Amino acid sequence: MSKPGQDAVTAREKQFTQVSYDQLDSRHHGAIHMPIYQNSLFAFETYEEFDNAFQALLDNHIYSRGNNPTVTYLEQKLAELEGADKAKCFASGMAAISSAILSSVQQGDHVICVDQAYGPTREFLGSYMVKFGVETTFVDGTSIDSFRAAVRPNTKLLYLESPTSGLFELQNLRECAAYAKLIGALTIIDNTWASPCFQNPLDLGVDLVVHSITKYISGHSDCVGGVILGSNELIDKVGYAEYMLLGGLMTPQTAALVSKGLRTLPLRMQRHEESGLLLAEYMSRKAYVNRVNHPGLSSHPQYELGKSQMKGYSSLFSFVTDEPLAKMRAWATKLQYFKIAVSWGGFESLVTVNPLPPGSDGQSATVVRLYVGMEDPKDLMADIDLAWNSL
Ligand SMILES: *Cc1c(COP(=O)(O)O)cnc(C)c1O
Repeated sequence: MSKPGQDAVTAREKQFTQVSYDQLDSRHHGAIHMPIYQNSLFAFETYEEFDNAFQALLDNHIYSRGNNPTVTYLEQKLAELEGADKAKCFASGMAAISSAILSSVQQGDHVICVDQAYGPTREFLGSYMVKFGVETTFVDGTSIDSFRAAVRPNTKLLYLESPTSGLFELQNLRECAAYAKLIGALTIIDNTWASPCFQNPLDLGVDLVVHSITKYISGHSDCVGGVILGSNELIDKVGYAEYMLLGGLMTPQTAALVSKGLRTLPLRMQRHEESGLLLAEYMSRKAYVNRVNHPGLSSHPQYELGKSQMKGYSSLFSFVTDEPLAKMRAWATKLQYFKIAVSWGGFESLVTVNPLPPGSDGQSATVVRLYVGMEDPKDLMADIDLAWNSL
């Protein structure tokens, strides 16, 4: 499949492999994986060196709440892959998201957030931040007009998530970033769905990218983590304040697991893209399916926009159906390959079945979210039909 911007990805992936080799050979005795630095602190030979280290707190190894070599190594690789100056890794996606937001606003500011953003993000903005005097308006992100209509003189942040991870709606990232610059606001995007392989929002003018590392980046359902990526200036700002003061750090063990997962990220994403599109097309031919929400299908209302800002598609999508919730949950229970579980990004295919959010569709009763894992797509299709026929 030919994808726009493919050359850029390849160049970035090459650079990303070479850097890891140079660093390992010169600094770690040829260890083929980055060793786990199980240290809280790092000692200095002289008081002068100790003093100098504090001049650039975030670029020296002093204390592991600020900097740990195993974590720094992962941060450098993620920054290269996303095309950022710098990255900071956190204990979870939500630690990264809440820190990025806290770093971007002050008391009295106003935020505009897409209404289909990740649930806990909406709760953080819509409830938690209210007690610090920060108000949020939630808008339909599919048109820049809804951002324009919601803007206030004190709007300081546009919070984006594209595609969204329930109904897979997109925002026009170039337009949103340009509009934010015009009104003097920052932009943050949750880029978890696309992964750094398929979408690089910093290239489109967005200020900060956040990922839940828990999903595709770690890739093996074995750890929880998050990352913020952006310019040196913005990442140092969050590094000195929210990272150091709230202390939601990533441990070196987690960073080592994620670094291993990262080595196969481009390969895994290729497989996820192929299998995800196969399954999405397969589901769109089922009589019981009203609509499949996958930005890589030409039936998606924002298919052209998706092609203009993404280099590929991951493998989480949903379909809506008139079939009652209870029946679709019975079907999910009969599936063998697809496990009933939250989250995604690991080997196993997953399924969740929920009532459709109010207002999103006049007729359908139920939304089924499928995560297509690494299994043979033929087995997954057979699984779906076998479970359906046995109802
Ligand atoms: C899972 C997820 C998060 C939160 O990440 P955690 O690592 O669970 O804290 C944020 N955004 C999206 C889109 C997610 O899927």
